[in-house]
Amino acid sequence: MWGTHPESPLPPALARKPGGTGEVSEETASALLLVGEQMEDLAGLEEFLVPLEPPLHKAVPWGEELGALLDASLACIIVDARRSWTVGIETARRLLVHPPARYIPVLFLGARSCSEADLLRGYSLGTVDCILEPLSPDIFRLKVEIYLEQHRRQTLMKRTLQRAERAEAAARESERMLQAILQQLPVAVHIVEAPSGRTLNFNAQAELLMGHPMLPCTCVKEYAQYHAIHPDGRRFAAEEYPLARVLATGKPTPQEELLYDRPDGSVRVFLINAGPIWDARGELHAAVASFMDITALKRAETHQTFLASVSETLAGSLDYEATLSHVVQRAVPALGDGCALDMVEPDGGLRRLAVAHVDPVRREIARELARHHPSRLEDATGPGAVIRTGRTELLAEVTDELLVRYASDARHLELLRGTGVTSSLIVPLHARDRTFGALAFFYCRGGLPRASRSYGPEEQRLAEDLARRAALAVDNARLYREAQRAVRLRDEFLSVASHELKTPLTPLNLKLTALSREIPRCCAGESPPESLQRHVDMARRQLWKLSTLLNALFDVSRIAQGKLALDVTDTDLSEVLGEVAAWFAPEAARMGSKLWVEGETHVPGRWDRLRLEQVVTNLLSNAIRYGAGRPIHVRAETEGHLARLMVRDEGIGISPEAQERIFGKFERAVSERHYGGLGLGLYITRSIVEAMGGTIRVDSRPGQGSTFTVELPCRQE
Ligand code: ADP
Repeated sequence: MWGTHPESPLPPALARKPGGTGEVSEETASALLLVGEQMEDLAGLEEFLVPLEPPLHKAVPWGEELGALLDASLACIIVDARRSWTVGIETARRLLVHPPARYIPVLFLGARSCSEADLLRGYSLGTVDCILEPLSPDIFRLKVEIYLEQHRRQTLMKRTLQRAERAEAAARESERMLQAILQQLPVAVHIVEAPSGRTLNFNAQAELLMGHPMLPCTCVKEYAQYHAIHPDGRRFAAEEYPLARVLATGKPTPQEELLYDRPDGSVRVFLINAGPIWDARGELHAAVASFMDITALKRAETHQTFLASVSETLAGSLDYEATLSHVVQRAVPALGDGCALDMVEPDGGLRRLAVAHVDPVRREIARELARHHPSRLEDATGPGAVIRTGRTELLAEVTDELLVRYASDARHLELLRGTGVTSSLIVPLHARDRTFGALAFFYCRGGLPRASRSYGPEEQRLAEDLARRAALAVDNARLYREAQRAVRLRDEFLSVASHELKTPLTPLNLKLTALSREIPRCCAGESPPESLQRHVDMARRQLWKLSTLLNALFDVSRIAQGKLALDVTDTDLSEVLGEVAAWFAPEAARMGSKLWVEGETHVPGRWDRLRLEQVVTNLLSNAIRYGAGRPIHVRAETEGHLARLMVRDEGIGISPEAQERIFGKFERAVSERHYGGLGLGLYITRSIVEAMGGTIRVDSRPGQGSTFTVELPCRQE
């Protein structure tokens, strides 16, 4: 029934109209709808409104689609009822049926003849105003302008409201997102307002790590309610907290470690980062702290460092009693508030070798306990039982009831209680099928702050590892002591044996010499059987060999006792070399080696002649023995203040591995099956050379021969 006039355009884009307040520069839409019976009437009205330039719709009651125009952009509906008030009222009634029209003010234009009753009918429909003929264009325009202005303001308000709602929704959304992010972070987060310190936000992880609900702090002072502590157990003052320091200085406090004494009694280590949050104006808006629990990491790190340093101590000394005492001292506080070491004595009793405690009073109590109530192997529990069974004893909680059961009398119980032990761990010292001691660790009441105050599997593993290393060190030290004792016994034996064996050699030699001389006389002019002389010569050679061997043994014991005395005289090395080479020439020839004596004719110096002979003898006899029947070159020469002796063979040579070793006592580098020898010649040679202030070295290649070079200072200081 109602419709827009075919000439009337649909609402154009919202007309630009500056806002009344001047603060809003946004586009506002304010349109008018003119409804009347005659289009020419409407055109006349439109004329009046031209100065207002509003987007305008004109409609005669022809079509249904008029309803589509009724939207929020309409500032006013002007109903021209000048021709018929009744038609006008009906028009308005139909329009107002549409819900969007309910809030659009309706302005009636009526004929002069309108009665008060007519006007009442109009107002009862919700009409806002009526203008009766004669129509003043100015009043009409001014009224319409008021509606337009009102509408613009309402539109502006609506927009502002919508924007505020959208901003609030966005803020709620970002708050929800922040919450979601905070809750999902693997680290604990605590955000506080600046400068008050009031808690703004935190996540569940923060409460989880601290072990209690977030405390309702409204200012920095209240931070003192939290439980951060110093390593000595003192509580943090409010202003010591990282967040408080950030608020005070505006500077971040990166990567700090902080001890936290949780209500469950455990002390955790937090790694904490705190920093400022600045607002757009560059003012401190808030401070944020993020922290994580690194207790396990710290513990593992401490344990590793402890083990490494203890291992170094253990490896550094063979005095195992001192070393173990040191380990006991180091175990506190790394593994407990107290530590004690009990060792099995040869008589089967236990001796407390070392005690350490963070509290000197309790250390004394532990000592007194060991003195008056020492552990015994037959005990049902404690170090004695651990040593007897070879098994670790872990008491996570040491109750008073347990002490009562363990105590042998009232005084014992009093001492046990005095130790304040709350948890104990005892591990055996075990090596090569033997348990010879036990290391005991204790946590005590009032001890140092710790992550846990009772021993568990982790500490057990560490303590057992430590005990294994300590036991190995003790075992090594014992083996070393035993080996040293065996060497001492051997040297003593050699000293005695060589002396005793040498004693009959001298008379035996004299007797053989006498026998050799007697032979021609006994045979009374007849020539003695050749074989007899040969036997005697053979016996004398064997005697000489025997005495050489015994001399070597005798020298070794003299060297070991530091009794290698030298009788220094003017000596010529070249002369000594010539003589010894002459003695050995037949022997060399027997082995197929040609002996070349080279070098200078005189190499004078001040040395012990007999000892020098011994040096040349040892080197030359080796060259013949290991020279494989090939030529041997010996030479003596002087170089500056040094005299040099060289013995070179082209024999079997010496492997690089053996070249240093062969100068040691009893060291040999050939198989016993093929070559005899005690492995003492080079040891004695080096001892003599060094006693005379010289050096000896070997250059050799297996299969190509060896050159031994001795250098002696010509004069000794
Ligand atoms: P030994 O009485 O066994 O020869 P030494 O102390 O004189 O004892 O020598 C130690 C070892 O050094 C010998 O067993 C041998 O293996 C090696 N050795 C010494 N001299 C020579 C050499 N000239 N050529 C090869 N090997 C040698």
